[in-house]
Amino acid sequence: MDDKYIGVWAVFDEDYEEGLETAFARYKEAGIKHVMYAGIAHVFEVHDEYYSETCIDPRLQIDYEEKKGDIFGTKYFLINSDYDEIRALAQKYGLNIGFDITPGVSDPIVDKHPSTAVVDVEGRTSGHWMCPSNPDVRKYFCGRIEDILIHNNSISEVELDVVSMDFYDPQVVPDWVLPELYPLRQLAAGNCFCEHCVKKAERAGLNVSRIKQQIRAVYGEATTLTYEQFKNQADTMRGLFDIIRFVLKYPELMTWLRFRCDAVSDFVKEINVLVKNIAPNILLSSDLVSPSFSWAIGQWYGSQHGMTDLTKLMLYHKNIGLNEVKPLKSIKEAVPGINEEELMEQYYRLKGFTGPDTFDKFSGEGIDVENIFYEVKKAKLEAGSGHKIVAGLGGDPPASADDVKNAVEMAYRGGADGYMLHLWYHNAPKENIVAFGEHLRKLGEI
Ligand SMILES: [Zn+2]
Repeated sequence: MDDKYIGVWAVFDEDYEEGLETAFARYKEAGIKHVMYAGIAHVFEVHDEYYSETCIDPRLQIDYEEKKGDIFGTKYFLINSDYDEIRALAQKYGLNIGFDITPGVSDPIVDKHPSTAVVDVEGRTSGHWMCPSNPDVRKYFCGRIEDILIHNNSISEVELDVVSMDFYDPQVVPDWVLPELYPLRQLAAGNCFCEHCVKKAERAGLNVSRIKQQIRAVYGEATTLTYEQFKNQADTMRGLFDIIRFVLKYPELMTWLRFRCDAVSDFVKEINVLVKNIAPNILLSSDLVSPSFSWAIGQWYGSQHGMTDLTKLMLYHKNIGLNEVKPLKSIKEAVPGINEEELMEQYYRLKGFTGPDTFDKFSGEGIDVENIFYEVKKAKLEAGSGHKIVAGLGGDPPASADDVKNAVEMAYRGGADGYMLHLWYHNAPKENIVAFGEHLRKLGEI
């Protein structure tokens, strides 16, 4: 099966320091054909005419990535390298260096232009997340993509990293996250209520003031931080069918969740038209979180077909606990008498995940590898047979070589159309890359 998509999310500065050819040879040996470097969008030159209709200057992000860096570190060597040289060298190893961009998340841009941020039901703006309905945001990212593709006609893939809508990314949960009881916070998603989203929602026939009223009411319950209130939720939201009682009570909130997915899709569709107009053969891929909760940030697998060429499902099962434990910890600190086993049990029931029952183990070891099988299978069936699902698997610490092999195995059983190894969290053991290739070879996938 040589048509499977095999790729890696790699860290350029690590490869540079090791020696690019050594790193490239290892990728080749592992069957990898596609390399996405964190921050690759910032290596390209800026041509001002592409940004005349937006308040955002790309140099703001480029300077930030070079000097300070987001959670994936600084990109000093990358930004000071030449894309064509890297690409030509990679080609000798059969590697294609793709172009990844994150159309929505930027601390420096939101800091300088708060009007671009996602707005919650109380009118507070996110310090992290830009709204996909905001014209400045759309013109900026479309301008950046066009600028880069027009001036670099060798690019064969554009990857959209986590286009979505929320106050924070579930894979990168900030330390300030507020205590809000599950699943009310997720079901009554309190954003985005910026002027552009409100206009769009009203045009789509949504009763925004009633939706706001219901979200406020549910938020009142979600932020009543008593043990009794937690138990009322945990004891009555037991199984999948219990959620239907919530849906029957608040049908407008389901319309709202769907609207948020449509608002995100609308932006992706605009990018699709832009990219395919420049060159129809450029592959457009999009990174989504696991289907069991992707809807909470406006990502819906059911709408991906036809909008992009392939979807990369990001489930780094050894790392997920490190971030997802933060909101649980903040609930524990705020609710007297609650214990972490109760919180973990509820978390697993809602997400359908299995894993360890203490915060320490969840944070340090993540969830069971079998969850990859279920999430890939959900994604495959929901996206439909005409759409490709690439399983994005964690190769970062604490994942060991065996963890990587087990993850590949589960993704394979789930029906993945390809595999992508994630190394962006830095310092991944090189054995993990080797193990990735070894297991793919054993399965006949490369
Ligand atoms: Zn908005």
